[in-house]
Amino acid sequence: MSTLPPDILADPLDALHATFGFTAFRGVQEDVVRRVLAANSTLAVMPTGAGKSLTYQLPAVMQRGTCVVISPLIALMHDQLRSATANGIRAATLTSADADREHTIDRFRAGELDLLYVAPERASQSHFRELLTKSPICLFAIDEAHCVSEWGHDFRPDYRLLRPLMDAFPDVPRLALTATADAHTRADILAQLGIAQDGLIVAGFDRPNIRYAIRPRDNPVRQLKDLLAEHSGPGIVYAPTRAKVEQLAEALGAGGRAVRPYHAGLDPQVRAANQAAFVASEDMVMVATVAFGMGIDKPDVRFVAHAGLPKSIEGYYQETGRAGRDGDPSVAVMLWGADDFARARQRLGEVEEHRRAGENTRLNALAALVEAGGCRRAILLRHFGETPPERCGNCDNCLEAPNVTEATVTAQKLLSAVARTGQSFGFAYLEKVLTGVADDRILQRGHEELSVFGIVAGEEAALLRPLSRALQARGALVPTEHGGLALGGDARAIMRGETSIQIAIQPKTERKRKRDRGGSSSGGANPIGDPLFDALRELRRSLAQEAGVPPYVIFHDSTLREMATLRPASLSALGAITGVGARKLEAYGDAFLEVLRQF
Ligand SMILES: [Zn+2]
Repeated sequence: MSTLPPDILADPLDALHATFGFTAFRGVQEDVVRRVLAANSTLAVMPTGAGKSLTYQLPAVMQRGTCVVISPLIALMHDQLRSATANGIRAATLTSADADREHTIDRFRAGELDLLYVAPERASQSHFRELLTKSPICLFAIDEAHCVSEWGHDFRPDYRLLRPLMDAFPDVPRLALTATADAHTRADILAQLGIAQDGLIVAGFDRPNIRYAIRPRDNPVRQLKDLLAEHSGPGIVYAPTRAKVEQLAEALGAGGRAVRPYHAGLDPQVRAANQAAFVASEDMVMVATVAFGMGIDKPDVRFVAHAGLPKSIEGYYQETGRAGRDGDPSVAVMLWGADDFARARQRLGEVEEHRRAGENTRLNALAALVEAGGCRRAILLRHFGETPPERCGNCDNCLEAPNVTEATVTAQKLLSAVARTGQSFGFAYLEKVLTGVADDRILQRGHEELSVFGIVAGEEAALLRPLSRALQARGALVPTEHGGLALGGDARAIMRGETSIQIAIQPKTERKRKRDRGGSSSGGANPIGDPLFDALRELRRSLAQEAGVPPYVIFHDSTLREMATLRPASLSALGAITGVGARKLEAYGDAFLEVLRQF
């Protein structure tokens, strides 16, 4: 139990305000907290950014004894430790990276810790179990609980040893937490961790502050430079390979913004330094492979860009979910190309037979997402089993409706040209045949004699490229070994007129749109050129540097914005600002009041 007065700790809302400076819970947080306080074991499925850690931190503060948190990554534990400590929570980690393990064990046994973070490997050892019998514990919190399931995407065998450990302490409730688990995985987590069916709480998947935009990749460096110019704040650019990471980091870094690479091929020290610099920064761009971000709890990432097709919708949602955990407006931009689908479909041939159908379904779901003319968010949420409204008002297609064109006849012409030329030529050649350009190669083969020669003209010709892209995405056109295109999937059905084809062509107005630094209609973006806000940020920066923590650990941007708007003149008024808990008020209150008085 924390050092806060007992009367405050009796009520979850009072304790929430005193500890975190929040006046209300978000989403399902309150349900989860109340279940934990009633000693009921629970599995909470909450999207990234929904405030998962608060659901065990608050009960830990309110109760006697320590909450033992099982977490799979040391980096993640240390991030959590830093944020918890800044809020006055008595927390420690017990990992191989900690030199003060003896001291931590003493504090744990003496009941002086609210939170103790350990990795599953340590938790499952016999001497840790023995330690638990000698220490007061109030809760087991199992973070990234999908790791316990083979159905999940990060199975960790050591998670399987948690159940016997926890069974030895039948009076201590369990709280399993995960951001990603389909129905199958959820059932498995419940069974593996010994949590009753009615202990499942699932929050909605929606991340309303993230604006989704998906567009064809025509010139990735220019497209990404535009994105960087439009959006300040930290950002992540995901690239599919190490080579692409290096190449993009160099090209984007030439613009003056701090840009760093991150991939498994870098020297571990360089990688760690780049990650630390990114976590501490307010404006850095990390170009990385998808491994980056897993162990990072940075709430102020303002954009996530994919320079290539993600592996699956689940992967895409998890990666884009690293943006905007603080609830401020953020963007997720995906640049995709027909070649991404070509490569992915080629790889399908290499996967084991029994996995092929599943992989194919995965790819088709991505194709439907990128080709969609309707709301992106609706497609994503439906994928996760929700029934969202038809339009969200905060994705590219809702904000600027694409031109959805009936293209069945043109598709038939393109597919016929592929068939008649022997399924071995690339798009450029096919385009020439269809638009009637008789160059040497075509004359040499006599292709100017084909019935498809010159049958596409005028505006229809402009449809060929996006159509080829769309047909490749859905698999009706597949790549040959030598860079040509062949018929695949439902190509024959399209040619016979059994399937119709529409393509969504996005308006070309994106570069003219008002530069809004990622601000959406929700109005939560930082003010530009406000001297008070800038001064508050400056103070935060120097306090962060002094304490050796990232600026967001001191206060989130939204807290500084509220300060700049309300201009509190006393400690009690400052304490009423969202995000200013008792500990932070005591630590930083005077310094911020000092700056506020100058304006
Ligand atoms: Zn939408």
